[in-house]
Amino acid sequence: MKVLVINCGSSSLKYQVLDMTNESLLCKGLVERIGMEGSVITHEKTGCDKFQLIVPMEDHKDAISHVLMAIQDADHGVVKDMSEIGAVGHRVVHAGEKFAHSVLIDDAVIKALEECIELAPLHNPPNLLGIAACQELMPDTPMVGVFDTAFHQTMPPESYIYALPYEYYEKYGVRRYGFHGTSHKYVSERAADMLNVNLDDLKLITCHLGNGASVSAIKRGKCIDTSMGFTPLEGLVMGTRSGDIDPAIVTFIREKEGLEPGVANEILNKKSGVLGISGVSSDFRDIEAAAEEGNERAMLALKVFAHKVRFYIGAYIAEMNGVDAIVFTAGVGENDISMRDIICNDLGNLGIKLDVVKNKVRGKEMIISREDSKVKVLLIPTNEELMIARDTFNIVTKGQA
Ligand code: AMP
Repeated sequence: MKVLVINCGSSSLKYQVLDMTNESLLCKGLVERIGMEGSVITHEKTGCDKFQLIVPMEDHKDAISHVLMAIQDADHGVVKDMSEIGAVGHRVVHAGEKFAHSVLIDDAVIKALEECIELAPLHNPPNLLGIAACQELMPDTPMVGVFDTAFHQTMPPESYIYALPYEYYEKYGVRRYGFHGTSHKYVSERAADMLNVNLDDLKLITCHLGNGASVSAIKRGKCIDTSMGFTPLEGLVMGTRSGDIDPAIVTFIREKEGLEPGVANEILNKKSGVLGISGVSSDFRDIEAAAEEGNERAMLALKVFAHKVRFYIGAYIAEMNGVDAIVFTAGVGENDISMRDIICNDLGNLGIKLDVVKNKVRGKEMIISREDSKVKVLLIPTNEELMIARDTFNIVTKGQA
């Protein structure tokens, strides 16, 4: 069966078609500037050159129509007609407490996801637009929803309840949800395969370090804690997000600078993180280049980032009473050799010994700890689209993810 994976943003859309007989990627693409001037689709059939088409796309339905044309195109396509696509898997950011697994989408699921819009006002609406457009254009094809929050639904209450008046949880669902769940799940399964150990016998700490970043504690295949919270702002220092701060700072700065309420949110999400500390960039490559030239704030940003990752690793070792493997994934985790080095430095007493030679690798599955390291350190490129396609295929063919 071939599965189409759709990841819809407000003005952009990523897609892939995978052949699930061997989980191979047939094509992938990106639609940008949906509803704006200069809408463009970039499509790449595996093994062929990319092609780009600049064509007006007023809304998500237009965008999906062009995706369907591209995948059926005589030269660049991967299917003769849409009957070859057995199912569509949709990435949906927030399912609140409603779904702990991926699900077949029906009217009740749509209604439940609409009820989650207030928890993810920027993300769930475009995700739902993508589902509606596909349902209209492919009415007979089953659709599956795969949620960023679902994997973290196994967290126990002591991990997800904030020490706030309990009524805010009951009335408004204010609790920790966690995000990047599809990535944490994917790399935890790959880690078990690479170590040739059953996931049920493993304690893992998975570090998804990208522009957005989160760490999860995974015991026997179940997430028991994660660093992101009610929103993806909590936890680690990120590219432009503050991560954990004393909440009293918000009121303090708002009063000092006379900020409107929305502005504080914007500062915490878009102007903080390693960008805020360094004043250089949110991209670790730029910050590292500046640090090498002696920029002290750039050096500080890298140290603060690493400090926070180590802080969570330590906390999760305590929570799980040990760890068998630590996994690095996403842009920074997969590519930033020196950052992995700093994070794992001097953790020998915890049984973590990085092999500095093996660590000199980028974007490739590999065990990068020393032979004598009690805790294995793994580099695993994430593949959220494959995870979405797998869940979609399993639900459509076997009735469960
Ligand atoms: P992601 O959000 O997972 O796509 O990660 C994007 C981030 O990965 C970028 O903003 C960079 O900070 C980081 N990144 C990508 N490649 C490298 C690299 N070679 N060295 C250091 N950081 C990198």
